[in-house]
Amino acid sequence: MHELSIVMSILEIADAEAHKANATHIEEIELEIGQLNTIEIDAFNFAWEQAVKDTILSKAIKIIHHTAGKGKCMECGHLFTMEKLYDTCENCNSYFVEITEGKELKVKSITI
Ligand SMILES: [Zn+2]
Repeated sequence: MHELSIVMSILEIADAEAHKANATHIEEIELEIGQLNTIEIDAFNFAWEQAVKDTILSKAIKIIHHTAGKGKCMECGHLFTMEKLYDTCENCNSYFVEITEGKELKVKSITI
């Protein structure tokens, strides 16, 4: 499952941070998920609950921020906000759009 491997990599980052600070648990973790990321949020939450049991993240409050998607049209160079992965250019309707933002999933902050 795609989502589980994402959770595992977040857990690794959190583990490393906690280790650096000599902490035994993490209070809060903030994540940033781009709107164009293909992650299934329900599956992600489910995977999260399974994976964080008995780890430093077991009691952590999870805050998820969704960041807007942005694309650049490769035909006319127009920059625009994308709601969905296959949105066309709002200026010329081209399908050739380079996604510049919105596919990332990152750990924004960790509170120990
Ligand atoms: Zn265009």
